Amino acid sequence: MFIMKTLFLLIFPGGVLFAAVLYLQFNVSIPPSWQPLASFFPIVAVIVGVLLGWRFNRTRMLWVILLLVLSERALTFATPYGRECLLAVTPVLIPLNLLLFCWWSERGLFTLHGLSRMAILTAEVGGLAWLYLYRAGETIAFVERPLVTTIPLPNLPFSQLSLLIILFCAAGLLLRFFKKPEALESSFFWTLWFVLVGLAWPDDFALWGGFAVFLMVTALVESSFSMAFNDELTGLPARRAMNEYLLKVGRRYTVAMVDVDHFKKVNDTHGHDIGDQVLRMVATCLRRVTGGGRAYRYGGEEFVVIFPSKDLKRALPHLEELREAIAQAGFLIRGRKRPKQKPETLTSKKSDSAKLQVTVSIGAATRDDNNTTSEQLLKAADKALYQAKKTGRNRVCS
Ligand code: GH3
Ligand code: MG
Ligand code: MG
Repeated sequence: MFIMKTLFLLIFPGGVLFAAVLYLQFNVSIPPSWQPLASFFPIVAVIVGVLLGWRFNRTRMLWVILLLVLSERALTFATPYGRECLLAVTPVLIPLNLLLFCWWSERGLFTLHGLSRMAILTAEVGGLAWLYLYRAGETIAFVERPLVTTIPLPNLPFSQLSLLIILFCAAGLLLRFFKKPEALESSFFWTLWFVLVGLAWPDDFALWGGFAVFLMVTALVESSFSMAFNDELTGLPARRAMNEYLLKVGRRYTVAMVDVDHFKKVNDTHGHDIGDQVLRMVATCLRRVTGGGRAYRYGGEEFVVIFPSKDLKRALPHLEELREAIAQAGFLIRGRKRPKQKPETLTSKKSDSAKLQVTVSIGAATRDDNNTTSEQLLKAADKALYQAKKTGRNRVCS
């Protein structure tokens, strides 16, 4: 499940957008009447990117946009020789900057981190200007000198040194994504490829840079959507997602409210962190609920399971199975005295761990003449839950 989600985030939207744009670039010729749109698009993308990056406090994205805009402006205004210099060094510098900005933590623009980034960019611009004025020939020769001469390599638009650095940066960006599999991290990785195509066809750099910014905007929208509709702690869809689903679930369905028993005591006795882990464990069981049930985190230690096209009679065995699964699972609290290294022989005698019994109470209600709206149904399920609590907990009531 986690692997599928990670792969999905890596491919969508970045990979799909990259493949689509690449296909269009080489297979569809833009009609002349559309050309103004192509020059207008990067400007719009940058404006939207800056506004959203600012609004959502995504400073890393703002730095990448600044990097792309600076590169584009430099390529546009440079003399032919200056452009040649830039095309030699930017395939090295842009990937390295992308890697740096991607790994650097998200901090305010006017903090020490922000100012350091600004200093780095300024130093790079100053350094490039100096190299151009005094060491242009040597710089180009240094970047473009072949590292490998014994094996014949295909003719590529980038020097061997650039290719080495590009591969290193691509691996670094990918590593960051796998460490933190989120849409924005994936967009950093794909931005590298958009930029490389832009550098290989420098007349279209603005357009490809625009696509990179557009991708970051899409990733930002995607992650905001995910934040609004998914619960961060348990990974289950959140209440908002449940409300959306209830609008389209159909006429026949059953709703169950699931509440962890004496959860406050877990927090009070073992601490909030253990409480959070218990919630994750319960969520794992809920995700595996049988009978086509869909689980949501309703709030706090309360969850909702919806069984589409099932009446109470057909949903109850699955709820009973769920309750039993949670009660059987228990929760292992690892002791503080755990050795750092795995012992050579496993001994359970001196184990410092304790098993915590976790149970849930469940109240269920199905759509009928008395309960027609989802609000009424949730209320009825809540009432049944109250009954389950009152009659001893760790049970299903309807
Ligand atoms: P009952 O069996 O009657 O349901 O008792 P209870 O203790 O489970 O219910 P109560 O509503 O008194 O307590 C719920 C507790 O859940 C209170 C709150 O601090 C805790 N809680 C809510 N959300 C979270 C969370 O995300 N993490 C942790 N660790 N605790 C949470
Ligand atoms: Mg509760
Ligand atoms: Mg509770």
